[in-house]
Formats: sequence, structure tokens, C-alpha cells
Amino acid sequence: MVKERLMGHGNCYGHCKEPSELKLLSQKKMMIGCYACPSGYVSLIVHYGKEVDLHGFKTFLSSLRAGDVADEDIRVATRYNWDLGINEPEGPVLREAYWRQSYRRTKSEDPNRMALFHCTNCNSFYNQQVSDKNKFCPKCRPLKVQ
Ligand SMILES: [Zn+2]
Ligand SMILES: [Zn+2]
Repeated sequence: MVKERLMGHGNCYGHCKEPSELKLLSQKKMMIGCYACPSGYVSLIVHYGKEVDLHGFKTFLSSLRAGDVADEDIRVATRYNWDLGINEPEGPVLREAYWRQSYRRTKSEDPNRMALFHCTNCNSFYNQQVSDKNKFCPKCRPLKVQ
């Protein structure tokens, strides 16, 4: 259902003007969606569920970003059936916990700041400088250069 209803496009935020696209990731028991632009910059990471596992989501984010995630960086929203364009069931049907990369307490415009990217080849997460033009994680880079 998430795939059908939420497959929206946004624009890359805090990096470039390209559209960012939703990719759904299977992450243990959590349903995770990641919005990334064609260069792989991650604008938004969303955890969907009937109930959201905030602790699990934060742990997941921290594992990607080396402990740089605080509770106040994570927002929770509720989607209702009318919101998703379906009739059943009544009431809230889906919760989303989301984390926006550009929303940071330590907001910085430094082009050399480290940021989270999503490899366009193997779909793994990696960190590199915002100004870095690589679209691939360090593992895929040697393969792609040849
Ligand atoms: Zn971008
Ligand atoms: Zn890769």
C-alpha cells in the first residue's frame, strides 16, 4: 500500500535541484523509505508503520550517521485514510517517522560538510562530502571507473 500511495516525487533539498525519488528498503522488521536524488544525496528517510518504532528508527539512523541523530531530529506524522485516498478502515491508518537531512541542529552551509548518500548502484548508504560528485559508494567506485 505504501508503494502505491506514497510513491511521490519531491525535489532534492539542500543539495541540488534534481527530483528526489522514493526507494523502499527492507530493513529488518521496519519499513523504510529513502528519498534520494539522481546523485544519491539523501533528502529524507521515512519509517512507515501502523505503529512506528522510534527507538529502532533512531538506532537505524545512528548506524548510518555515526551517532549524529537526536530525538528532536525525528518527526512523526499520521496519515489518515482520506489522506491516502482509500475508504477503509476508518481513522488513522499509517504513521510515519521521518528524518530530514537538511534539518539539523548543527545546520551548516559548508560545502565540505559530510552528508549521507545512497549508492545509486548497490543501494547501500555511505557518507561523503556534500560537494563530492561521486554517485557510488567506495565499494562500487572502482567497479564503475573501469
Ligand atoms: Zn541532489
Ligand atoms: Zn555501492
